[in-house]
Amino acid sequence: MPEMSHPIYSDDMLASIRKVEATRPKRAEEAKRGYRFEEMTLEESNKLLHKFHPDYIEKEKRKLKVGASNGEELNNTVADIFEAHSRLWKRLDEFNELIQQPDYKTDVLIIGGGGAGTAAAITAREQGAKVIIATKLRIGDANTMMAQGGIQAAATPIDSPAIHYLDVIGGGHFKNAPELVEALVNDAPKVIQWLENMGVMFDKYDDNTMMVQHGGGTSRMRMHSCLDYSGAAIMRVLRDEARNHPEDITILEFSPAVELIMNERGECMGAVLLNLETEEYEIVWAKAVVFATGGFGRLHIQGFPTTNHYGATGDGLVMGYRAGVPVEFLGAVQYHPTGAMFPEQIVGLLITEKVRGSGADVLNVDGEKFVYPLEPRDVEASALIRECALKNKGGKGKGVRTPVGNYGVWLDAPLIDTLDGEGTVAHKLPAMVRMFNRFGIDMTKEPILVYPTLHYQNGGLAMNADCSTVVPGLFSSGEVSGGVHGTNRLMGNSLLDTQVFGIRSGKAAALYIKKRFKDFGKPTLQHVSEYEKELAKLDIPDAHISPMLLPDYIPSHVKERQLTASYEGTII
Ligand SMILES: Cc1cc2nc3c(=O)[nH]c(=O)nc-3n(C[C@H](O)[C@H](O)[C@H](O)COP(=O)(O)OP(=O)(O)OC[C@H]3O[C@@H](n4cnc5c(N)ncnc54)[C@H](O)[C@@H]3O)c2cc1C
Repeated sequence: MPEMSHPIYSDDMLASIRKVEATRPKRAEEAKRGYRFEEMTLEESNKLLHKFHPDYIEKEKRKLKVGASNGEELNNTVADIFEAHSRLWKRLDEFNELIQQPDYKTDVLIIGGGGAGTAAAITAREQGAKVIIATKLRIGDANTMMAQGGIQAAATPIDSPAIHYLDVIGGGHFKNAPELVEALVNDAPKVIQWLENMGVMFDKYDDNTMMVQHGGGTSRMRMHSCLDYSGAAIMRVLRDEARNHPEDITILEFSPAVELIMNERGECMGAVLLNLETEEYEIVWAKAVVFATGGFGRLHIQGFPTTNHYGATGDGLVMGYRAGVPVEFLGAVQYHPTGAMFPEQIVGLLITEKVRGSGADVLNVDGEKFVYPLEPRDVEASALIRECALKNKGGKGKGVRTPVGNYGVWLDAPLIDTLDGEGTVAHKLPAMVRMFNRFGIDMTKEPILVYPTLHYQNGGLAMNADCSTVVPGLFSSGEVSGGVHGTNRLMGNSLLDTQVFGIRSGKAAALYIKKRFKDFGKPTLQHVSEYEKELAKLDIPDAHISPMLLPDYIPSHVKERQLTASYEGTII
């Protein structure tokens, strides 16, 4: 059938696309009348979550056996990074000597050069502090750079921080730390202003008011965006601002932290860095330290593909935990409902929620709607998993099969053009259109195939509203921290989180130095030795090391022939 040939979609997929096209006029007409699929009740969504969300699969989780949050239930892959040796453990005596002589001394050391870390650096400098940013890859090689859809802030006359607060708490299943949510929503409008003043060009209407739209779980339109390059637009401006002050902000790239340094009073006083280019260890002494290392999406929890950048291996969690900071809500993982499921080359990459926010329907193999497209992410993801799961596994068996045997559902982007006029998709979602065009798929005219993908660490290191932790001198901000989003973050609240708490952590670190810092004291890695003592009862294999730093994608058959290579953890 020549009319069925397509550069990449299989004939079976094309047959299903014809069904999507057949239902589109009726769906468009319904959408124009304001009808969309009915939202789930709380009871329905709870039932769905318990049956289909990966967080509820008991065999995939276990209780932590060491440290400040002993007993906390985590995914096995996440528990593994806590129940692992320090990279320094075999040579602790040598490292204890090395840390006595710093290579760098500074006021504030910021570990992680993404959105939170760079915002922290800019504000700590504004408070008069000298800053070092130590980051794993280059500054801006971070999840922040990849963020697409936007950043939330109550900005319209029918919205307010109080309404934003209720949405955040509802999305987080009422488990969020109230004082953190209060800080998030109250600072939000100021953050947008701060970013705009520095040069971020948000999307605007002709009358110069901000364009805003809905995200999943929002009761008001408050998503500010820069097309679907929101994170890149923000990160670029932050990075430029940090680089514009080399006299105050030193940036150490390819220099991940591998362990914190404490003093004899139990205060944090710096970190051991690993120079990835020379393989030297370098020592930074700092009067205050801010963790901004981002999340753990590269751990591929439960085998899911991921939207995250390569450095997202949960390092800050491990280092902070070894120093005594508890973790919160870390068992709650966010699977974004719409990762690409076809073609193979882009499986797991993010399809921004802005596609659904702009009006695209989510449809099964028969072109039928089966879920309200803007449910909170955990509910939406569970509905997609249920639709695709085979009937003998309790699912509906209505997924679209790809040629390699994966299943997904359609995201009907062309409906956006049908509703809002030709060219809307191309204008609002250029990054998405470009990504699919590379593979011969025109998402302005054809639906795209999606399935949930590992996206975000809902929990993290426990912190207060000024970003301080239980360890004096140690602050935390951005995705590495827990409590803000409870057990489920809503879209656009993470970019916001990085800026609200990035700014707060920079200020708080500078203030701590002015008010509480006495002297560096005597550097020690005692906390690492103590942790190793706890680990001893678990019989952890010698080679099991964290922080991981980079994920390991080298297949075992290649490793078998790397006869002269020597691995430390996952890296050579
Ligand atoms: C594809 C994608 C799209 C997204 N879209 C949105 C969106 O539209 N809206 C929204 O609100 N959120 C979005 N998010 C989530 C949001 O972007 C992130 O949660 C947020 O940017 C995290 O910022 P961060 O500064 O905490 O971490 P990151 O931006 O990830 O930065 C962390 C930095 O720390 C570095 N690092 C890690 N370990 C170490 C170490 N050991 N030593 C030194 N440095 C280290 C990393 O290399 C990185 O540079 C998206 C995420 C992804 C992946």
